[in-house]
Parts: sequence; C-alpha cells; structure tokens
Amino acid sequence: MTTLTMKFGGTSVGNAEAHTQAANIVLEQVPNWDHVVVVVSAMSGTTNALIKGAKTAANGDGQIYRGIVADLRVRHYRVVDALLTDANERAQLLATVDQYLDEFATFCRSVYVLGEVTPRAMDTISSLGERINARIMAAYLRQEGLKSQAIDATELIVTDDTFQKAAPLMEKTRKQVEKNLKPLLERGVTPVITGFMGATETGITTTLGRGGSDYSAAILGDALDSNEVWIWSDVDGVMSADPRIVPEARIIPVLSSSEVGELAYFGAKVLHPQTIRPVIEREIALWVKNTFNPTCPGTRIIREPENIPGTVKGITAIKGLSMVTVEGRGMIGVPGIAARTFAAVASQGASVLMISQASSEQSICLIIPTETVAAVIKALEEELTLELARRDIDRIWSLDDVVIITAVGAGMRGTPGVAARIFSALGESGINVIAIAQGSSECSISLVIDAGSAAEAIRTIHHHVILKNNVA
Ligand code: ADP
Ligand code: ASP
Ligand code: MG
Repeated sequence: MTTLTMKFGGTSVGNAEAHTQAANIVLEQVPNWDHVVVVVSAMSGTTNALIKGAKTAANGDGQIYRGIVADLRVRHYRVVDALLTDANERAQLLATVDQYLDEFATFCRSVYVLGEVTPRAMDTISSLGERINARIMAAYLRQEGLKSQAIDATELIVTDDTFQKAAPLMEKTRKQVEKNLKPLLERGVTPVITGFMGATETGITTTLGRGGSDYSAAILGDALDSNEVWIWSDVDGVMSADPRIVPEARIIPVLSSSEVGELAYFGAKVLHPQTIRPVIEREIALWVKNTFNPTCPGTRIIREPENIPGTVKGITAIKGLSMVTVEGRGMIGVPGIAARTFAAVASQGASVLMISQASSEQSICLIIPTETVAAVIKALEEELTLELARRDIDRIWSLDDVVIITAVGAGMRGTPGVAARIFSALGESGINVIAIAQGSSECSISLVIDAGSAAEAIRTIHHHVILKNNVA
C-alpha cells in the first residue's frame, strides 16, 4: 500500500492559474499511488487579512473588516468563476464562500462589540480561509474527473488547547484518521484537507501556528503511514538563502533534518519548524518542491547529515529582536543567577532565541522578540532586586533593532575555519558583530548584528562563504 501526502501552500493555491497547476500535479500523481492525500492552505494573503479584520474590530474599528469581507469575496468568486464550468457546482461553491465570509463578518462584529479577541476566537476566525479553499480545490478536482472531497482537519487532527500554537495529540489523531479518513481512501476518494487547523478533544477549533499547513501535512503523513510527504511552494526547494534577499541563492538538493530544523527555526520560512520531526522520525521521505516548476526535483530532507567538511549550506535571519543584557562583576562565580534569569524570562512567556554568555561570566545576553522586552526587563528587575541593590549586578538593559543571522551546515562540525571565514567576510564589509553563539549540534553559528546591516551581511556571507568556498 503506497500513500503520498501533498501540501500546497498559499501561493500554490492563490489564484485560478495556481489552482489549475496544483490540480494538475494531483491528477498526475493519483495513478502512481494507492492513496493520494491533499492538504491545502488558504489563498495567499487570506490568513493575514482575516487576522487583520479581527484585530481591527477588537480595537474598535467597525469598518475595516467589512472591506476585507468584500475583497475576499471578490478574490474567491473570481477563482470559482474561472475554475468551475458546471453552473450548479459553481452556484453551490459561491454560496459556500458567502457562508464562510458571513461567518467571518459575524465573528468580527462580536469581537467589535466585546472589544477583544481571545486566542480561541482568533483560531476559529483565522482558519476560515483554509475551509473555503479546500472546498474550491475538491470541487475543481471533481470536475477534472477525480472522486474528491473536502474535509476539515477538525475531524482528523486532535490537538491540545494551546490556541494559536496547538500541539497534536498523535494517538487520538491516529484514531480519528482511522475513523474519518481511511474509509474515504478505501473508496478511492482523494481527500482535500484544510491545513493549519485542528480541534481539541471537545471539538473546539485550534491552529498549529502561522505557516502551520506544513505541519498539518507532516502530522497526517505520520498518522497515515505515508511513504512520502511533498511540500509544494513557490520556490525550487529550500534555497541557500531567502531568494527575496539574495537573488543568487541556489537550491540545496539534500538537507538533513537537523540542518533544515536550524534553518526553519532561524527564519527560513519555507518550512514550518515542527514539520520535520514526525516525518523524519518515521523515516518518511520529505520533499520541498515548486508548484510552478514541478519537474525540478526540489530539496530532499533526510535523517542523517551528509558529511561534506567545511561546507555551509544556508544562511538565514530573524528580525524584530532585541538583546537583553544582565551584567555585573558580582555575578562571577555566583551559582544560580543564570537559572533565575531564565526563570524570570520564562515567567513572561517570552521565547529566548539565543543565549550568549561572556567567558568572564560578567554578562548574560538573551535575544528575545522586541515586543516582550518591557515585560522581561520588569520581571528580571523584580527577580534580581537584591543583587541590583548590592551592586552584584550593575544593570539590566536592552538593545533594540537587532537580528540573528544563522549559518547552517553539518559540515561545519569539527571543521576549523568556518567561523573565521564568516567573520572576515563581515569584517571586509565593515559589519560589526554584537554577539555570537554556536548551536550545540555544531551545525550552525548564529551572530547578532544591527538590523540595518542584515541584508548586506546575508549577501556578503552568502557570496564569500557559501558560493565561493563550498564544494560544488
Ligand atoms: P507557502 O505559502 O507555500 O507555505 P511560504 O511563503 O510559507 O510559502 O514559504 C515560501 C517562501 O519562503 C518563499 O517564497 C521564500 O520567499 C521564503 N524563504 C525564506 N527563506 C527561504 C529559503 N532559505 N529557501 C526557500 N525559500 C525561502
Ligand atoms: N494559512 C496559514 C498561514 O498563513 C497556514 C499556512 O499557510 O501554512 O499561516
Ligand atoms: Mg508556508
């Protein structure tokens, strides 16, 4: 029994041409496998628009969401009109679009009246785009001769109740898949499943975090014991840098799970960071491919790293960060300060993206999202009041507008000189490095630099370290 799970991202199903292209890929693959399962995102831009509508309504603007409803209606109508030739199917689908957009307007009105949008409400609202798009795709596949049916992932993926970033409960998900998906597959149906969303055990809609449709495909791929999972996007695969920043970026043909994990974690948006785990643990083949260039093989993600000494495969950046520093000579040799610092940060729910401690132990630097800085500094000052009063800690301060740039490649492990090459490339361009950390897996080096120099730093490292020095 062979099963292929394929996910189409927002740009791959963002307009009628893209839908057609994606559907052709499905039609081409169906004869090659016993079962093909399709996961779709919302049309590109839809999720952002839905979130904006809800947020502006919560902030007292009762108009913006109405404009968004109108825009989304036009966009979805246009796709339905272009794709479906049968008048009945078309009318039914237009009514479905209306139904979901009316729901959206009703939710926004409630949010407007209440003056707040809870994470739980946001999940219900922000996942409406996937619900619409799965229905459009399934209808189009039916027209093209497949037995196809849209399914909401709320019927399949069971999650905890961490709204906005829910985690799957795999045993329960497996049971739901057995009950609600397998019988369809056995009847020869090609299901089109909504990405991004799931539901708690009591049936309340959750989402898996932004970009979560990749994760949906991985979860379903795992639960279905798929042979392969293919993530279709608008780039030829995972590239050596974000092609929007570095036009000379090239495809990375093979990446290990730890390498792609580091890239995704540090901002290479092409794959949701959690995606890799379930797929790789089960040794399911994972590919990233281009809907608009389907003959290009794309990037294959494998379990174990290839050993090409000295190579850096990719470079990536995360923006919107600040560096919080706790410093003071009295910290030297005092046990427990680091632990208390991290506990205080964690108490604010702030994610620490990188840590760097000077070997003299005079300072601890934490890189966190800028929006959490005020709360984190307050929590640190409270936790360390005594040390501040005694002057064991001199000050706690933050530096805003920094980015983390991360160079990734398993070949960096145990190979001296990679860091030196990175630093000399930056030095030649006059870019100052504020802090450094090396991942414990030794397959990445992260640097903190001023946000203003980020694009140049990425281009410089890409050019001098990736293109020039890598084994071709
Ligand atoms: P989708 O909607 O298909 O999920 P995303 O927008 O989430 O697509 O991810 C694809 C985008 O990720 C690309 O268009 C590209 O601009 C961006 N990206 C960032 N870093 C990389 C990288 N290293 N390789 C490929 N794409 C990248
Ligand atoms: N539509 C969702 C988002 O924009 C999920 C995804 O595209 O993967 O975040
Ligand atoms: Mg994505």
